[in-house]
Amino acid sequence: MKLPKIKSIHSVLFLKDKIRIGMGTDYSIEIENPDEKYTKLIKSLDGRNTIEEITEKCVTLSKGEILESIDTLCDLGYIEDNSIKPELDFSDAELQRYSVNLNFFSTLDTDVISKYEYQRQLIKTHVLILGIGGIGSNICLSLTELGIGKITAVDFDVVEYSNLNRQVLYNTEQLGRRKTDAAKDFMNKFNPEIEFDTIHMEISSSDDIEKLIFESNCDIVVNVADYPTGYIDFWVNEACVRSNTPCFSALVGKKNGRIYSIVPNKSACFYCQYLDDLKIRPDYEEELETVRNIRNKDELDLFRTPNGALGPACLFHGYFIAYEIMRYIFWGTDKLLTYNKRFSIDFMSFQQEFTELNKYSECPVCSER
Ligand SMILES: [Zn+2]
Repeated sequence: MKLPKIKSIHSVLFLKDKIRIGMGTDYSIEIENPDEKYTKLIKSLDGRNTIEEITEKCVTLSKGEILESIDTLCDLGYIEDNSIKPELDFSDAELQRYSVNLNFFSTLDTDVISKYEYQRQLIKTHVLILGIGGIGSNICLSLTELGIGKITAVDFDVVEYSNLNRQVLYNTEQLGRRKTDAAKDFMNKFNPEIEFDTIHMEISSSDDIEKLIFESNCDIVVNVADYPTGYIDFWVNEACVRSNTPCFSALVGKKNGRIYSIVPNKSACFYCQYLDDLKIRPDYEEELETVRNIRNKDELDLFRTPNGALGPACLFHGYFIAYEIMRYIFWGTDKLLTYNKRFSIDFMSFQQEFTELNKYSECPVCSER
């Protein structure tokens, strides 16, 4: 610790006989301060003084007391080393744009990882998003706000009026345009610091997805495509497990939502979830086969229901998945809320549930891995 500094995100308040650092229940401590014993020390922790200089200034405290106080504040996460400067690969624009992120990351930083390193980890990550509809466009936005450095978005739709209750990347002037083109316009204006690529294509097999993963060289896949029904989750699952790429997936129904993740070689895959579901609903296999084989237009029209996803539900899933991705980038599977668990929510009551998932040794997709 060369230049100890009380992190600027923590306010300092000198009360009668005590000093409070930080506000709120998560981020505050009070230091007993009889006769202003620690006042000079706390004021010296401004990132401009070395330990030696602080010792010279604070004559009311011994060097041992000063070192112990700084160590304690450091262990509690209130102090950072102001001599650590951002890596050279940050542009001025990035430092300004992400300054509030950095303030937040300073609440996480440790001796090992600085706030700049957290931001750098996000910037060097590439996420492939399959589907930029309601949830996908909210995820795009959330990931861009976090500063994910590269996003490749895949879709084959055009912007329709009925999209505009929830698909935040598009507006009324863009009706009829390809979503990929309209999204690019929005993203380039919103955050030109990130690389946003689009691919206009309809996915029709797991090989298609594996090719997208391979050619984009992405680190993480987001599956929020809802078409083709009965296939897409299975295809994404196969491609992600085969290519060893983690995947985050979300779906909004009418009033319910569902989120799960797949961490190949570690967690249950989507086919494992299907095996779980079969135990509860043995006729699910027949149902799935029937859905997959509807060829008759009348029957298809009767089966397919119109979209009933509300904007706030898509927004909720967008930020949930963005947080999951951030947690995964920073800490791997350690802090993932959906690790081997499927999250579900009833949006009318906001009742939430995490269902434990089983990884099956006989799973035809992930068992060999
Ligand atoms: Zn599996």
